[in-house]
Amino acid sequence: MNSPGATPARPGVIIAHHGVAVEVLFSTGARNMVRVKRRSGHVVGDNVLVRGEVLEQLPRRTELRRRDAMGGLHLVGANLDVLGVVVAPAPLPPAGFIDRAIVAARAANLRPFLVVNKSDLAAASVFVAELRATYPDTVAIFPLSAAGGDGLDPLRKFLGEGHRGAFVGISGVGKSSLLNALCPAIDLRVGTLNEHNGRGCNTTTVSTLHSLSCGGELVDTPGFQDFGLVDIAVPELAAHFPGFEQTRDTTCRFRDCRHRTEPGCAVINSVALGQLPANRYATYLAILDEVEASEAESRCRGWKN
Ligand code: GDP
Ligand code: ZN
Repeated sequence: MNSPGATPARPGVIIAHHGVAVEVLFSTGARNMVRVKRRSGHVVGDNVLVRGEVLEQLPRRTELRRRDAMGGLHLVGANLDVLGVVVAPAPLPPAGFIDRAIVAARAANLRPFLVVNKSDLAAASVFVAELRATYPDTVAIFPLSAAGGDGLDPLRKFLGEGHRGAFVGISGVGKSSLLNALCPAIDLRVGTLNEHNGRGCNTTTVSTLHSLSCGGELVDTPGFQDFGLVDIAVPELAAHFPGFEQTRDTTCRFRDCRHRTEPGCAVINSVALGQLPANRYATYLAILDEVEASEAESRCRGWKN
């Protein structure tokens, strides 16, 4: 509450997180560092009110989380609109990677899209054709070369439509190259593993929010390579799996249908009718097995504790 003479609240957005301090871009255009407690839960993209040295976080529209290799949970960014899943013909994404990323994005209320980098490689056109066949209409696909610059304009236009986004992809697909190409001011080192840089050292910037000259904003989070399986629950997978868009919602007999063996299942029905490719459904079942196994495992851990 503002009493007469109290420090006025200045609205802003967190554009960089340095562990013990965050950088705030105020609506006036000014930037300031504000000290925060370690693990205070703030993240780039957060809208805040700053009174003196005190930072108040405003409610989030969306929040995107990931797990690291050690199982630790991290916030990637707040108030994001879109998630770019970056893949390349080399190194190829592991089985199920794209689908898990799409499900995680949709579950967090972000619109997923695919960036197919390294379009200059010989294997690229077949790879792009396969992806277009697997994800027809439902997910936008941007084939491009971050290194050569080909195909970047459609992505710039898309991001420029006021989107705030982030990229996820395995190491080596060209995420740093892509960020460098889209916002040259960022100047990331290419070909180095970033997971290391993201933690430990005192002054390291954990993540940053960049405004693009074409419009739109990108969050750069070192080490954002995958979502742990644990972050996807069965209902999210069943609701958001790419390919199930036509048969979603209330069309299965059971509202919590896992689309495995349930009677009156619209997904099973559309496979039988040839409307949903059998290999798409097989991929779903494989990921469902993994998610169920990991849920069972964490239940076991819960009992033991
Ligand atoms: P990251 O690990 O996802 O950040 O990937 P990097 O940006 O570090 O790139 C990994 C490797 O891919 C580097 O050797 C880059 O030079 C290379 N690379 C990036 N973009 C392209 C591209 O468009 N075409 C080709 N052929 N190589 C690329
Ligand atoms: Zn079903």
